[in-house]
Amino acid sequence: MKWPSDYHMHTPLCHHAVGEPADYAAQALALGFSEIGMSDHSPMPRDDWDDWRMAQSDLVDYAAKVSAARAAHPSLSILLGLEVDFIPGLEEWIKGLASRFDWDYFIGSVHYVSGDFDLDNPKKLSEWKKRDPFEVWSLYFQRLTQAASSGLFETIGHADLCKKFCFYPKEDCTALFNTFLEALADCDVALEINTAGLRKECREIYPSPSFLKLARKHRVHITFGSDAHAPSEVGANFSDAVGLAQETGFTHWCRFKGRQRELVPLS
Ligand SMILES: [Zn+2]
Ligand SMILES: [Zn+2]
Repeated sequence: MKWPSDYHMHTPLCHHAVGEPADYAAQALALGFSEIGMSDHSPMPRDDWDDWRMAQSDLVDYAAKVSAARAAHPSLSILLGLEVDFIPGLEEWIKGLASRFDWDYFIGSVHYVSGDFDLDNPKKLSEWKKRDPFEVWSLYFQRLTQAASSGLFETIGHADLCKKFCFYPKEDCTALFNTFLEALADCDVALEINTAGLRKECREIYPSPSFLKLARKHRVHITFGSDAHAPSEVGANFSDAVGLAQETGFTHWCRFKGRQRELVPLS
């Protein structure tokens, strides 16, 4: 199988990943990939925002690490991306980030649903327990819809991340999903199929099969990501991800270069 590019992987600059981009690249080559993209957690306007991202001053080092990986592995295409947290009000900050380097793509991700509640953080389970899951899922998808409509991102990361710890709402969430997917389709932004969910408590790819079926109905395009935080996770479960995409009717995936998109057949 010719793998679609793995566009979601991290570096030690975010303080919770191991391995340099060159190590991720070596693993990708060993697995038969022809392209990968690094997408570490973006800096925020304040370096003390939280403890799981690079500082503003790390961006130069980040780009240098990607250049070093390119030099070490010239037979692999290695893209310079970023996983950017979307929070309403930070649009100008994100535009500023975009102007600083020759990025290939930005993944827009929502981790924060309100204040300092990052819903995928195991230290915040007490916040989940204080709230009704439907309230959290609603807030999450409202922000995700804003991210999709913002024009700031090429693809949206792990779109049902709110299922990570299995706090599932009793209510039907189809309307939330449809509103988000309409925004993706209207703004021509892709949806990431992210295999990290298989390694979390929810034991399911982000987003779920039924979500992907809805996405297909909305004619949304897709990207793939392992969300690797170690070289051994590069391309993790990609056969499952590609199989799921094909079963749900997808025929192409998106390749990026210099923030331009090209559609590539899934094979
Ligand atoms: Zn991470
Ligand atoms: Zn993320």
